[in-house]
Amino acid sequence: DAIANQIAAGEVVQRPASVVKELLENSVDAGSTKIQLIVSDAGKNLIQVIDDGKGMSETDARMSFERHATSKIRKSEDLFNILTMGFRGEALASIAAVARVELKTKTTDAELGSSIIIEASEVKSQGPDSMNQGTTLSVKNLFYNVPARRNFLKSNSVEMRHIIDEFQRISLANPQIGFSLIQNDKEVYNAPAGKLSQRIVHLFGKNYQTQLITCQEETEWFKVTGYIGKPEHAKKTRGEQFFFVNNRFIKSSYLNHAVQGAYEGLIKDDQHPFYTLFIEMDPARIDINVHPTKTEIKFEDERSVYGIIKSAVKQALGAHNV
Ligand code: ADP
Ligand code: MG
Repeated sequence: DAIANQIAAGEVVQRPASVVKELLENSVDAGSTKIQLIVSDAGKNLIQVIDDGKGMSETDARMSFERHATSKIRKSEDLFNILTMGFRGEALASIAAVARVELKTKTTDAELGSSIIIEASEVKSQGPDSMNQGTTLSVKNLFYNVPARRNFLKSNSVEMRHIIDEFQRISLANPQIGFSLIQNDKEVYNAPAGKLSQRIVHLFGKNYQTQLITCQEETEWFKVTGYIGKPEHAKKTRGEQFFFVNNRFIKSSYLNHAVQGAYEGLIKDDQHPFYTLFIEMDPARIDINVHPTKTEIKFEDERSVYGIIKSAVKQALGAHNV
């Protein structure tokens, strides 16, 4: 019922950026080659995600808003997703409980697509619609029916910062997909599909073309790849530091410390290097005792992971200095 939906929604949808994260991840999962994010008023009035992915049949479109309807664990990687990425099969239902949602979607072989409008979990209209293959999800007036939440939202600049964080994380993890972001009718990012280094340049600026150092190390059960920034480009802020585990963004002050440690003597204590590092490992080696909505995770063998990361970064820096 409506109240239960609203309570569950609070777990998944905390702010506009939570909606952005869920919608972008769905578009990535749908095998899209291009994903466009449009926001106005820092997502408070509109969050729209347009993709060219596989789309949904009419039945699936309707089902996608049913809680748990899609909950399924397909492989061990999914288990890891549950642990780190929130509840599965809950996102659309939760979003639709606290906003006005319009879904337009079409699969390749369908002649017509379908369109559904849902307000506060109630289907307002549903019918066939002509459109291209893919899915467009529009989320309007977020929290219009939960004034306490709506009032709790921060200023547009703070909420927009959170949205951009999610956009950067997901587009860094998927450089093979083209991503664009339009904010209040202005194009803020337009990153075509390409290599990771090109994605970094599109997101953080042309000067990154000359400041990236390749970082790579592999053991029997652990692999790290990606880029670190040259020491001379370290900044006073730590906004441009990204760790991904099995292609999902994670926060880890512990691993951050490992990287910072590798730069010792090369940068000042109050400076922070750029890095985008991808860890691949067996999800079974990740401690499951972590709250599902958090991006923090714990490794079973934390010390080894710390050591490998630090030595990988040190080695990359050493090779660069030769
Ligand atoms: P989950 O992603 O955990 O399955 P969601 O509530 O985020 O749950 O989405 C429900 C379902 O709707 C997905 O499993 C997927 O089948 C479908 N879906 C959502 N967004 C898209 C999309 N952009 N393209 C294709 N299918 C989608
Ligand atoms: Mg999802």
